[in-house]
Amino acid sequence: MISVPRGIRRRGESRLPRRTYSIRSVRGAGKPDVPGYGVDHMIPIAQPVIGQEEINAVQEVITSGMLARGSYVDQFEQEFAQYCGTKCAVAMNSGTAALHSTLYALGMAQGDEVIVPDFTFIATASSVRMAGATPVFVDINEKSYNIQPEAILEHITPKTRAVIGVHLYGQPFDVRAVSEICEDHGLVLIEDCAQAHGARYEGRKVGSFGTAGCFSFYPTKNMTTSEGGMVTTDDPHLAMKLRKIIDHGQDIKYRHDLIGFNFRMTNIEAAIGRVQLGKLDAMNERRQKNAAYLLQHLPASGIGLPYCAPQSHHVYHQFVIRLEEKLGISQDDFMRMMHERGIQTAIHYPIPLHKQPVFAHAVNGTRCPVSETCACSVLSLPVHPSISEQECRYICTQISEVV
Ligand SMILES: *Cc1c(COP(=O)(O)O)cnc(C)c1O
Repeated sequence: MISVPRGIRRRGESRLPRRTYSIRSVRGAGKPDVPGYGVDHMIPIAQPVIGQEEINAVQEVITSGMLARGSYVDQFEQEFAQYCGTKCAVAMNSGTAALHSTLYALGMAQGDEVIVPDFTFIATASSVRMAGATPVFVDINEKSYNIQPEAILEHITPKTRAVIGVHLYGQPFDVRAVSEICEDHGLVLIEDCAQAHGARYEGRKVGSFGTAGCFSFYPTKNMTTSEGGMVTTDDPHLAMKLRKIIDHGQDIKYRHDLIGFNFRMTNIEAAIGRVQLGKLDAMNERRQKNAAYLLQHLPASGIGLPYCAPQSHHVYHQFVIRLEEKLGISQDDFMRMMHERGIQTAIHYPIPLHKQPVFAHAVNGTRCPVSETCACSVLSLPVHPSISEQECRYICTQISEVV
């Protein structure tokens, strides 16, 4: 049993919170553990693990009156940097803001090209356009779903300034190969860690490899602050510039030497984040335990199971299967059959970025065949920490029946 403290750590205590929190969700507490699933009783695809500790932490902040940026944000930044093994961390109000302000701080602008994987959430690429630069889409590896290092090489031009690698679904991309390419060609490496809090590559945490690591704390992610984001970096100058950019370009109070945004995180969000960070390893272990069960008990033919590279510590933000062609069932039909059986599923992602209406006009001729195939064959199953072994078993038997 994990013991439950009465409140959160007091102000001034900036030590990394130890894993002493319960990861039982208040919301899921009354959920019956017996099957009887159907359209009225679904196993959700995602569910934040919010317990009494988060409620207490929020209450403490609201009572204090310090609602916007304050000491909770400072402490959350320190603890998050320490967790990732970086010198600095800068909190902001979303993962998109983390990417956008990082690109802006690094001077990406019109005429610059930034290489991104074709198969990821839109924010990886839209943030490049927000900064004024041009995203260049490259294909992914069909086993890991992560960016193909060889494809990066094919797309480097004299205008290329940076690569954003995404640790998709919770599995680190090939950091060694991508870092080498960036070094050889003088490119900046930015890690999109929005789906991979706590994931490790060759034993080291993601967010500590690139010039910057960008995290999201949206409620479906491995940890949440409601909305929120963070940039990790070892470069104190970059951290300082980011702090300025997210606070109206202010260097000293009411003196502004660049055009900035209001991308600040609130004390309320940081209070939730500190509790969640204390639970992160336990929540990830639950995801891994559920993933191990699914890997072992799902049928071995008709569907493709997730691959985990030996140097990866995969934190299973998503557990993604592939519907093989010989199965003869479309994503929509499979999702409907799962829905009828009370299992919510999702497609991450149904449209490759180069085919998104907002980008398609600008990328005539781009070809990413693996990304295109994955978009019409992947399916995410529930794997989040609130799923019991019984629910995992239920998911496996239902899929076995369908397949
Ligand atoms: C969620 C996500 C983002 C954006 O984060 P928000 O907090 O929703 O703005 C960026 N990249 C990836 C890969 C994501 O999954």
